Amino acid sequence: MTDELPALKILLVHAHPADIAAEGAGTVVLHTRRGDDVTCLVCSDGERHHNNLIYREYAKPPDQCDPKVLGATVDDICAFKRREAERICDVLGIRRLYAFGWPDVQWVCTHEKIMQIAEVVREVRPDVVLTHMPWGEQQSQLTDVHAVVGHMTRMAVRYCSDSLPQVDGHEPHHTKLIFYFPMLGMADTNFMFGTGNVCDVWLDITPVVDKKVEALDVLVSQGYEGSMGRKLVAAREGRWGMICGCSYAEPWMRDRAVRYAHLPVRPEDLTKKYVPNDLPGDQMLCHQLPQKTPPDAYDFPLS
Ligand SMILES: [Zn+2]
Repeated sequence: MTDELPALKILLVHAHPADIAAEGAGTVVLHTRRGDDVTCLVCSDGERHHNNLIYREYAKPPDQCDPKVLGATVDDICAFKRREAERICDVLGIRRLYAFGWPDVQWVCTHEKIMQIAEVVREVRPDVVLTHMPWGEQQSQLTDVHAVVGHMTRMAVRYCSDSLPQVDGHEPHHTKLIFYFPMLGMADTNFMFGTGNVCDVWLDITPVVDKKVEALDVLVSQGYEGSMGRKLVAAREGRWGMICGCSYAEPWMRDRAVRYAHLPVRPEDLTKKYVPNDLPGDQMLCHQLPQKTPPDAYDFPLS
């Protein structure tokens, strides 16, 4: 630990395995490297989502198709994707993975699902929860499962805070902070007077961007390995870096204003030299990173 904060307990809540790698993976590595205890909850195995591996097989001429791949069951697909989720957690330093295995369909917010998430919150007792943004300009909890998960997680955290032994049969747990990762609908700016959802927390993930790319290399089921992952991170996280002044960044949004004892002036605000053109640097170019897909990653089904 290099700063004064004690080790944190952090809980990620995601809709699908791919989200663990493709959303705030750099932020997760920054925290696992400082000794924080990070747990991940993934609601579905994502069996329908971007199933590139099977689609590629269907696209072949019939006499060249592998019958083992075409004959794979839903359970085979889920097991394959679950292994990818476990491997992504290993790459990022996440200690525990909870997987609900909800069918990968268009969920709606239900009491039962909120209680399931709340049970994990009560077990993990996080200081900080990271999840999907529940609202966006183009998406809402009515039309996007990520937003549904973000919304239900927010309600589960609130339920845990409000719990009473007399009513709920257990003690409350108060999560200190929730940060939301933006999907579509985030304004392309960190200018807080801009319109739309403007993220208010930006992390420089340049020192760990190689781990985010390595996590994407695991996702062969969706074709995110190799050039796809490098293009994604170079274009999107690189753009976010341009917005906040570093090579690669991840944005987060809080749902309430932050109170300080004094104005939030950081040491680097005082020491930063003025540069007329301070466009971000050229550190750790994603396309130069070697591919680290595990050798057996394409062996499908697993057995
Ligand atoms: Zn997803």
